[in-house]
Amino acid sequence: MNPAQNLGEQAIELLAELVRSACTNNGAPDSGQEIRSADVLSRFFAGSGVIPEIVEPHPSRASLIVRIAGTEPGAPSLALVGHIDVVPALADDWSVDPFAAEIIGDELFGRGTLDMLYLTASYAVVARALAVAAQSPNGPRLRGDLIFAAVADEEAGSRFGVQWLLANRPDLIDADFVLTESGGAPVGGEAALAQNTPRTVSAVTVTVGEKGLARRRLVVHGVPGHGSAPWGSRNAAVIAAEAISRITRFALPAEIGDYWPRYVHALGLPTDLGARLIAPNAIVAALGELGDLAGYAHAATHTTISPNVVRAGDAINVIPGLATIDLDIRHLPGVSAEDIDRMLREALGELSEHIEITGDSFSPANVSSMDTALFEAISEVIGLVYPGARALPIIAAGGSDARFYRERNRTAYGFSILSDRWTYGMFRTLIHGNDERIDLASVRLTVEAIDAVVRRLLG
Ligand SMILES: [Zn+2]
Repeated sequence: MNPAQNLGEQAIELLAELVRSACTNNGAPDSGQEIRSADVLSRFFAGSGVIPEIVEPHPSRASLIVRIAGTEPGAPSLALVGHIDVVPALADDWSVDPFAAEIIGDELFGRGTLDMLYLTASYAVVARALAVAAQSPNGPRLRGDLIFAAVADEEAGSRFGVQWLLANRPDLIDADFVLTESGGAPVGGEAALAQNTPRTVSAVTVTVGEKGLARRRLVVHGVPGHGSAPWGSRNAAVIAAEAISRITRFALPAEIGDYWPRYVHALGLPTDLGARLIAPNAIVAALGELGDLAGYAHAATHTTISPNVVRAGDAINVIPGLATIDLDIRHLPGVSAEDIDRMLREALGELSEHIEITGDSFSPANVSSMDTALFEAISEVIGLVYPGARALPIIAAGGSDARFYRERNRTAYGFSILSDRWTYGMFRTLIHGNDERIDLASVRLTVEAIDAVVRRLLG
């Protein structure tokens, strides 16, 4: 790769290489094989004056870290944290090979392009350019340390990635400020976009926090029997089906909070719809008018419970005496573990007598303050790309590596800048979806934006 190429073209080329590494993480300890992308990045940094460190908590589950030392001891440090693992892709469901990094028109297709290899590639390109510049006598120098971390295992909970690194090697990746995935969607002018007319972007999303995560397993007790005479039986699968249906219908109250109304305002919707979307009693009925943003709008204002793994029975002629239902619960700030167990008992009603609620995993919702030099730098850069637009702070429905930093009271944001063809709804639909892809303009905008933010904060 040619360091004289402009940053955008370098990032596109590196992104394609990272897609081809196919570091597919299905949650099994030996999946991921992130060492392949760590090797790509190791070669990428060769000759730049920094020596990457590769850490491998489990064979082939590698993360690569580069540090460009600042000139002022005590100046704030910034870590650019990009995961290199991707979720699996079923090639049959794609219109292209998910790991070929094909460019069709002005889009690069591939698993992980959007989540989040375009950002990881952008971070690497910016870090290498600054490392090279720091070697020349008159080159720009940063006051504080810049850390680039290409990390493993984000898609399966980060036990071989950021979680492990912060617990065991904070010397490598801890920092005062952190940038990572899931920001960058232009907001405003969606109606114009839908009609293919010029759009005025009023804001770009910056993810400042995440909902909390809890997991519970419902253990359903029935009575086993012969499948040939089911009348009057207590079939655990049937009770489980009723439990799932009750949990799914159970309506937790909407909590509008501080962030969602700002989002609604930035959307520039008709006044009546905007008002209903921030009214706790009206929002659910209004979701159907929000198109592909409806799922996020609901998640941003509700604690959600999704029954995602259901098991019962193993023989066709035996009525199952046991069933389990694994619940993925995402809660709003202020909700406790006790609140969650209470909600579940309430939803199950009298079925509770056959059902145990097990598990106690609980991580709280987490939010970084917006009153920081990093948020200010981000806001300025957004205004340069989209004149008049501002940074729109949002709480993500899902989790990212930012949560491990926020637990340590570090400031972490999800940031990038996507081109004006994007909405947050489209972004959320394509992530982990078929034909995941990114347009080249968004890669170029993002790499320039990251470079500008780094220079503003650390320069
Ligand atoms: Zn991701």
